[in-house]
Amino acid sequence: MSAADASQDTDHNPAGETGDGAAPAASPAPANKPCGERRLFGIPACAGVAIGPVFRTTEAPPQVTRHRIQAADAPAELARLEAAILQSRKQLLKLRGRLAVLPEEGQGEIAPLLDAYLQMLGPSRLVRGIRTRIGDRLVSAETAVMGEANAFANAFGGLAGGSPDAPGGSAPSDASDHGSARRNADEVREVGRRLVRNLTRAPFRSFAGAVQGAILIAESLRPSDAALIDPARIAAVATEEGGTDGHTAILLRALGIPAVLGAPGLMAGLRAGEVAIVDGVVGTVTLNPLPPTLANARRAVVSFARDRQRLGRLRRLPSVTLDGEDVTLHANLELPVELPMVANSGATGIGLLRSEFLFMNRDTVPTEDEQTDTYRSIVEAMSGDPVTIRVLDWGGEKEVEALTNAGVVPEVVDANPALGLRGIRLLLRQPALFETQLAAILRAAAHGTVRILLPMVSTVAEVRASRTILLRVAARLRAAGRRLPKALPPLGIMVETPGAALCAPALATEAEFFAIGTNDLCMYALAVDRGESDVAELYDPLHPAMLRLIGMVAEGAATRGIPVSVCGEMAANPSLTPLLIGLGLRCFSTNASAVPRVKQAVRGTTVDDCQRLAWQVMKQTEAARTRELVERFGR
Ligand code: PEP
Ligand code: MG
Repeated sequence: MSAADASQDTDHNPAGETGDGAAPAASPAPANKPCGERRLFGIPACAGVAIGPVFRTTEAPPQVTRHRIQAADAPAELARLEAAILQSRKQLLKLRGRLAVLPEEGQGEIAPLLDAYLQMLGPSRLVRGIRTRIGDRLVSAETAVMGEANAFANAFGGLAGGSPDAPGGSAPSDASDHGSARRNADEVREVGRRLVRNLTRAPFRSFAGAVQGAILIAESLRPSDAALIDPARIAAVATEEGGTDGHTAILLRALGIPAVLGAPGLMAGLRAGEVAIVDGVVGTVTLNPLPPTLANARRAVVSFARDRQRLGRLRRLPSVTLDGEDVTLHANLELPVELPMVANSGATGIGLLRSEFLFMNRDTVPTEDEQTDTYRSIVEAMSGDPVTIRVLDWGGEKEVEALTNAGVVPEVVDANPALGLRGIRLLLRQPALFETQLAAILRAAAHGTVRILLPMVSTVAEVRASRTILLRVAARLRAAGRRLPKALPPLGIMVETPGAALCAPALATEAEFFAIGTNDLCMYALAVDRGESDVAELYDPLHPAMLRLIGMVAEGAATRGIPVSVCGEMAANPSLTPLLIGLGLRCFSTNASAVPRVKQAVRGTTVDDCQRLAWQVMKQTEAARTRELVERFGR
């Protein structure tokens, strides 16, 4: 969004809120309270600055399908309720724990609210009432929650003179105060909404009500929510939860939307339509900015746009170091809408097509024909440049409703999904799902250059088993008279677990190429959840362990003479380009908007200097010292 656009939107102050106006985490600030400028700090997730009116997202209304239940189902419904209570308490305790980073004034406002929610989720009359509804009235857990929460909230509304049924067992001390009763009613409804959301796992969000240039603000965004954002409409995103290398952040970068994630306290007192500035470079969100702050932000918007234009001129220049070494730059693709961005970036292929988008935000699994059409259109758009299609990487934080609905994967609530049936593990257990996708990829491969990439590989046997299935699918398609490429596409693997990195030479005997997934590699090597803001500072790709693992993979690939690339987020950070070149890498795949910056880094260095840097870095024992060396190298 340009500064001019921003000021226009600001002046018009269009309402951003739609739906039922539900506040997902906090009651709105009292209308008479003066609201000055508020600055919140989070994790910079996508560079860029935007100014616009706040659009506070609301979850889609939950789908409550079963109202009445059989007596025999009551225990199961009660168990679902207990799981939802547990999950809701966990979410709130997590938010509560993160308040410490807020200024004292902010803590004072939010902490009592969260405490009230937690109290209601304890041994309260509300919870007892919900249980009774399930057991006595034989209704589903979500029906009971909605019924009891509404009855409670209405009682607050109607009983301005006090209620002996107050949540937590105590009557509101200022029960004669209508404002207080209304806030109590809001709190009960919010707790009810949270429970229903956790019970129904309400999948799709709607951003339809956002005005052009809106700043989307939410408690958290799932990757499937982020996939629904229209980058032409939403100017920036800010959330209370989330980390820099989670899939939501990756999608936002792919879409080029300035973003700040993991900013605690963001939702408290937030008013739809108020002006916000999101600075995805430093990681701040400023609400209700004062004129000087607004003027600075407008200058930042203009300077960022100029910078982007300057980098755009690099598009046609070769990606080659000062001493003549070619470095291949590919783009990662999360959604087909990014194809024009890829074309403008100067990337010479797609190094990672995350096929998850095909399975998101839908109720059924895509058919072979549907998948073929999508892959084919991407392959054709790349006009002969390679397209590396990664087969479905289900699991971890990448929840795919269609698979859950179809019963292909179990509904996981509290297991550790990052260590479970993820990526290739699931596909090998679900041959029909795997074969359908491979068949579609093979059919698309007849129209261009394709490579097939397997996610989350940890054993040689997984590669072998996948190849057997690939050959079987190819034979079946040929027998059916389908047009396939003469040579089958190369079959490569993501190296994204420490086990795979340590066994790179062995895996290179079966895999035809490696793509280093530094996002997961870092998560698994350092035991730090990539999407978790609480431990974000420990998620450090410059940790010596990570750099050793990357060096091993590069060496393992070189020993066997197979291509190796980096397609995790490390590849998109131009200050790390010399170090990665020094570690032996010559191919990077990044979000389209990072390609010109990485090219600039490639063109500004020599392989000799990069190797010297890597040699020095590998002697370090701490990431902080490596960071200094890397930053100094760039100057
Ligand atoms: C990675 O793990 O680095 C990677 C590229 O895969 P994803 O981010 O999709 O898990
Ligand atoms: Mg990964």
